[in-house]
Amino acid sequence: MERPKIEELAKGIFWIGGRERPRDMSREALEETFRKAKEKGLDIVGVSAFRGRVSTGEDAEERALFPTEHFPVDDEARGRNLLKEQVEIAHGHGLLVLTYLNAHHYGDRFYERHREWAQVFPDGRPMDKLYGRGYTMCVNTSYRDRMFRMIREVARQGVDLIFLDGPAYYPGCCYCSYCRGKFRERYGEEIPMKEDWRDPLWRKFVRFRYESIRDFLVDAHRVLKEEGFKTWIYSNTSGQTWPVWSFALSPEDLWEGEDIIGMESYQYYARPEDVPVWLYGWTTKFGRSVKKDKPFFLFLSGAHENWTKYSVPDAEMRMAIAQGIANGVNILEDRPQAGEFIDFTRRWRNALKDLESLANVALVWSKRTGDYAYEEVVRGPLEAQAGQAGEEVEEAFQTGDYFEASQVQRFKREGERRFVEEVRGFYEALIRLHVPFDLLGDSSLTPEGLSRYDLLILPDVECMGEGAVEAIRDFVGDGGGLVASYRTSLRDEFGDERKDFGLKDVLGVGYLGGTLGPLRWDYMRVKGGHPVVEGVPEFCRFPGDDLLACPEYCLKVEARDGEVLGVQLEPQPARYWGETPETSYPTIVARRYGGGVVYFPGNFGAQYWAQGFLDYLRTIGNALRWASRGEPPVAVEGPEALEVTAYRGREGLVVFLVNYQYSVRRPFREVVSIGEVKVSLKVPHRPDRVVRMTTGQDIPFFYEGGLVRFVVPNLGLYEGVLVQP
Ligand SMILES: [Zn+2]
Repeated sequence: MERPKIEELAKGIFWIGGRERPRDMSREALEETFRKAKEKGLDIVGVSAFRGRVSTGEDAEERALFPTEHFPVDDEARGRNLLKEQVEIAHGHGLLVLTYLNAHHYGDRFYERHREWAQVFPDGRPMDKLYGRGYTMCVNTSYRDRMFRMIREVARQGVDLIFLDGPAYYPGCCYCSYCRGKFRERYGEEIPMKEDWRDPLWRKFVRFRYESIRDFLVDAHRVLKEEGFKTWIYSNTSGQTWPVWSFALSPEDLWEGEDIIGMESYQYYARPEDVPVWLYGWTTKFGRSVKKDKPFFLFLSGAHENWTKYSVPDAEMRMAIAQGIANGVNILEDRPQAGEFIDFTRRWRNALKDLESLANVALVWSKRTGDYAYEEVVRGPLEAQAGQAGEEVEEAFQTGDYFEASQVQRFKREGERRFVEEVRGFYEALIRLHVPFDLLGDSSLTPEGLSRYDLLILPDVECMGEGAVEAIRDFVGDGGGLVASYRTSLRDEFGDERKDFGLKDVLGVGYLGGTLGPLRWDYMRVKGGHPVVEGVPEFCRFPGDDLLACPEYCLKVEARDGEVLGVQLEPQPARYWGETPETSYPTIVARRYGGGVVYFPGNFGAQYWAQGFLDYLRTIGNALRWASRGEPPVAVEGPEALEVTAYRGREGLVVFLVNYQYSVRRPFREVVSIGEVKVSLKVPHRPDRVVRMTTGQDIPFFYEGGLVRFVVPNLGLYEGVLVQP
């Protein structure tokens, strides 16, 4: 039976067998397993190349399921090449074969044999607290040769895809002699011993860690290519929902060394209520933008992390899978809940190939800002906070006491949270406003990367290079709309501070230095009469006052060329206080610079994320409409908790709806159905058919003036609508 072409993986949605690998190695059992997988609709299955539990320390080394001189061989594989048998039987059923190789988690016994490979802290102690207890090896030691041998031998058995789980750096590492030597060679200095974000050399070390992982992956590739193997290899570049410098995993930095961009979006690495329900969509959107021409693979977990033996309810898994599909994933793992989705994607296989986003709005998630942004302000007291989202994400990973508690580190961590919340605020607002959008990385801030959008949103994108500044300036100069906030463009791509905004001429403001805050119970005064503040504030208790709760921080700027729509009031010494006078600092500035520009000097998105002020949501909606040079490709009428995405594909336009109305709290058992959703979509001419993809039924539609209108009744978790020309 013919296998799918590996190059086709980047074009559609394919499924794999997840981590379920055959255990019973009799030929009959293998035939049965792979026949069933094919019948179920899978294209790729997992097979085992090794056995043994090195991560828990039960085994010192993995035992190979194939003949080899370099690794111990499993008893069952004496006289039989079990890996090759699995591969050949799976191939016989028209399946591609994937094998998993651990590249990051080792127990005591492995460490005892290979002490010189372990990642170490500045004081020379090995990092021994991975996931609570465990070691991880350093890619700059001769561990790399061991892994290359493993990869080569597995490829030789005919495996199509190798998934390397890891490698990664671990927070506070690595100071082994190999890393120190390589750093000295590359940067001419010693690795700094202290985490200090004001020190450019420390930032070089952050870069060096990304480079070291990339070098490892690029070399692994070379090993395969030199020997003529067609095997594809990829690693876990993390879900990118939080700054990733501490692990040195990023698809943008590792891209060169990957055949597939693989990112995990697990349900929880934090308290469930602190994890936004739309986070799998975030990972998928980001993956789609940074994968370029490579396939994007979304890893999901069925586990209620950190309890890996305990699962999330089916409804949570279905939610994750639906978001992956709606946001343009290429490969999803098979899960017990995937059946309906496998049927869906197979039925619409051609319609779901080569989907090109129709979003005319781009939101930026800047990894460089996550890497290097740094500001010396403290966070307000808990009393002023509603959302602590994300805090536990970091703690869940960083189980060890890696960092000395120092002020610089606290500023950095606080800044990371502020930045994440800034982006989350705008992300959620876009979903709630039913605006289809893409999530771009730094590498898309180029003339070509921006040209297809009508509006760009820069939520506190503090770190950007001159190339990005120029591309944005030209984009706006040519009529593109811009919404930006807080410290956008105050540092370059290496984290070096600028005296003023790189985008000062575009934003129409100048940086005066410093930040007002934390503002715990303070206000801005809205200056009415402009479309961006139309209907705002709705919730001022004393309407004549036009007071709006202000963001937690107000960057001190002056408006040089723009209309001031909001002014910061002097901080109140206490909550119950009389009205304070206006400061000279603007809080909302709007102007025309080719296209419309709206700049929020405060951390407006983060305050929306924390407090959910509906006046902020309205202001963001107004700002998008006023600044954008074009209308969104699709408009929907329905409840706020609804995501819409739209694509052009091989068989017509595809609109996805994902329903975020769930009951009470996460984890949830079900989503609440929506009675009807009205959709109007821009089309080049009158369509032939409009088809509801879950049922295959035609939907009645009206066509008028370049718009097709239809109603989706009884929306459950998700729907796809195919509009055929
Ligand atoms: Zn090292």
